[in-house]
Parts: sequence; structure tokens; C-alpha cells
Amino acid sequence: MTFPIDTVVALLNKEIAGYQVPVVDLIAAQTNDPFKVLTATILSARTKDEVTAGAARRLFAQAENAEALARLSVAELEKLIYPVGFFRSKARYLAALPEVLRRDFAGQVPETIEELLRLPGVGRKTANLVMAVAFSKPAICVDTHVHRIMNIWGYVQTRSPAETETALRAKLPQQHWLRINSLLVAFGQGTCKPRAPHCNRCVIAAYCPQLGVQPRKTAGKEQFPCPVLRLVSWNVNGLRAVMDKGFLDSMSKLNADIIALQEIKALPEQLPEAARSIPGYQVWWHPAKKKGYSGVAVFSRKEPLRVRYGLGHEEFDCEGRVLTLEFADFYLVAAYFPNTQDGLKRLAFKQAFNRAMLDHLNQLAVEKSVLLCGDLNVAHKEIDLANPKANVQSPGFSPEERAWMDELVQAGYLDTFRLFHAEPERYSWWSYRTAARQRNVGWRIDYFVVDERSRNRVRAAEIHDDIHGSDHCPVSIDFV
Ligand code: SF4
Repeated sequence: MTFPIDTVVALLNKEIAGYQVPVVDLIAAQTNDPFKVLTATILSARTKDEVTAGAARRLFAQAENAEALARLSVAELEKLIYPVGFFRSKARYLAALPEVLRRDFAGQVPETIEELLRLPGVGRKTANLVMAVAFSKPAICVDTHVHRIMNIWGYVQTRSPAETETALRAKLPQQHWLRINSLLVAFGQGTCKPRAPHCNRCVIAAYCPQLGVQPRKTAGKEQFPCPVLRLVSWNVNGLRAVMDKGFLDSMSKLNADIIALQEIKALPEQLPEAARSIPGYQVWWHPAKKKGYSGVAVFSRKEPLRVRYGLGHEEFDCEGRVLTLEFADFYLVAAYFPNTQDGLKRLAFKQAFNRAMLDHLNQLAVEKSVLLCGDLNVAHKEIDLANPKANVQSPGFSPEERAWMDELVQAGYLDTFRLFHAEPERYSWWSYRTAARQRNVGWRIDYFVVDERSRNRVRAAEIHDDIHGSDHCPVSIDFV
């Protein structure tokens, strides 16, 4: 059967009217400015739309044209556009852009693919998108959604976006060229998702051969491997390092639906592909600006409604410490709390972080269940470390840090491990020095904390001290 492309495009045009408009189209519609479309398109590569929108807003407040952009340094640009994907490379491209526009194009954004490709940071996809969106010129921008969905339909049989672009230029009626990217990006984000598309509510299901697709099994319901969610938190102390110590085997052993990692100590692009893309999981990264330091990530089989990066305070957020995932009936706050360091040098910083965190949790708890997980870098009670007497003023057991844990509990949050375990000598961190792990001279500083009303939704809480690879071991809860 010939695929009825005109009918399908007409149906999808109607369907996506109620969807969120892709950010680059939105900027084009709001500004009618090729410079802003170009810069927003550069920012948008490998970045979620909501992150691109925030970065574009901050950038345009400082630089609404090429002359103003030329006055910003690479460091300033990095700060403005963080946390878009590959922000360091993109900051360099943006810094170089005004000079190339001035020298080669009289300060104007060029209007041909070949000329656009001469700009820093502009590849074929970006050039096509700028042509189509900024100048309404015939161009087919093929991103992963277009490539994927066109192959699901059997409209093309190709192995790469570049091949798809060539095939579509030969086959797709020209009246659809301009719109096809915006249409399929919105449709791909809202219905025909990369994993488990919503075929049960798809308006074009009657025309779709669903090639290579595994649709969701039950109409109207999300499908998970198990009705109980296994949530895991693990400070891996360097994701690159732990990859060499059996991380993927540990992941499969833990069988987590959602796993929050702390101290990833790497930008996503510095990681091997096997760590960036683990089959069955989507991942969100919040690395620190400083290389090799801090950083959190969350891998999830369950798709969140939205993800927030940081606490909204630059002094904490530049250290990559917090990701908040919102699901239909709970929030998961995945965090790496600051270490107060020798002499409690960073105590004031940690106390400010703690206050901001408690405000954040309290705001979320107004709406629905809240789970906080991560390395809180504090042992709460004497039972939570091997040598309490020797550590009364140590970082992680100082009276001030323990007092905040008291405050957290008084505010109605529960340490889930202690809901199920009263026994001593259960730890989640051991110093690398003095063979502490073999002697079980440790600290319990990794937690799952839930708000009071979620108490009955926690079915188990565990410390997985049989899992190695880091100086911390994973902790988990089973949550319904
Ligand atoms: S039927 Fe399923 S696979 Fe086909 S377009 Fe719709 S959502 Fe995508």
C-alpha cells in the first residue's frame, strides 16, 4: 500500500495544534529574527526544549544581536547558556559567530545551506532548520524524530538522518518540506515517542505499519516492569572509574526502575557510549561546571512529566548537585549534598544548601509525595557510624549538620532505612584509607527520605553493601 502522506500530514497538523510548539519555531514566531533563530538552533542540539528556552532567554537578555554577542567572553557565554548540552563547545561557537558573520556575510545571517554550513557550530541539520524556520525556504531538516518516524512508516528505508534527508528530497512533496520537522518533533515528543509510543491513542494508527515498534501494551495506562518501583541511589565516585569496575553488571543486578547517581565527575560527552545510553533507560545529566567534580545523573525506565535542574541558586547549581523528576504521583529529588570538608571549611555553604533544599522539598510536598535520595554527606545518629565518639566534630557528623537532619525529621520527613532496620553497623560509605570496608568501619550517609504521607507507599528499604566499585554502595527503596 502506498503511504498516504498528504492525509497523514493533514491529520498530524490538526493533532499537534494542542501540543507544545518546538522552541525554535516559538522563537521564530515571537521574534521574526534570523539571528535569534540561528543562535537558538545552535543551543538546541542535544538539549531538551525547556532547557534551550531558558538558555535562549538568558542569552538574548544580554545579546540580542551579533554586535552585542561579540562583547561577551566565552566564560560569560558558558555561564549564560549552561546547562544546555555541550555548553562549552557551543559557547566557543557563539563567541566566534559575530566575526564570521561580519567578515563573510556583511553582518547578516546567510540564506543558503552552503553559506550557513560555513558558520561555527552549524551542521546540516541546523542549516536546514534555519533555512526552513527563519527564511521559509524549501529545506528538509531531518533530526532523529523525522528519521525515526519516517522509517516506522516505511516511507523511507534509511540508516541515518543524512540518508533520510536525501530520500525525502526525492520523495516528499515539496509543500511538506517546511513543516515536516516541526510536525514530527512535536508528534515524536508527544505521541510517537522513541520508547513505547502511544499507538493506542495515535490519530494515524490506521495508516501506520509500526515497523520495528513495540507499542505500549495497555490502552491509557503506563507500563512498568513491576507495579512496585525499585528506586536506587548510588554515589559512584566517578562514573568513568566505576564503568571499569562492573557498573553495567551492577545496574543489571540492582534492576532499578530509577537509579540516581552522584559524583559522576564527568560531562556526558566525556563518557563512553555504553554509560550514556543504557538499554531501557532514559537519562538526565546535571554535571558540575568544574571538570572532574561532583555532578548528578538519573537513569529511568519510567518517563517523568518534567525534569528540573538545580535548586535555582547559581552557587549550588554550578556544582551539579540536584535533579528533580516529576512523575504523576510523586517527585523524586536526587541530590549530592556538599561535603563540609576538613575544618568544616564549607559548613556555611552546606547550611545554605540545606536551607534551600528544605524549602524546595516543602514546596513540592504541597502538591504530591516527595522522595529525596542521594548522598546527604551526614550521618544522623551515633548508630549511623562506626566511631561516633571520635568524630563529634568531623565533617559529616558535626552538631550543625546533624541538627539539620533533626530539622528535616521535625518537618515531617522520614529516613526510610530506619523504618525497616533498627540494627547497628549498617553503612553505605567506607573510607578508601585503612581498609575500612573490609573491617566495616563505615558511615551511613546515603539515604532515601520521604514525606510523612508517603510512609505507607514504601515497601522496603535496603543498603546493597555487596555491590562494589565505589567507596559508597547503593541504597534503595521499593515504592508503590
Ligand atoms: S501508530 Fe504508533 S508507531 Fe505509528 S505513528 Fe502512531 S504512535 Fe507512532
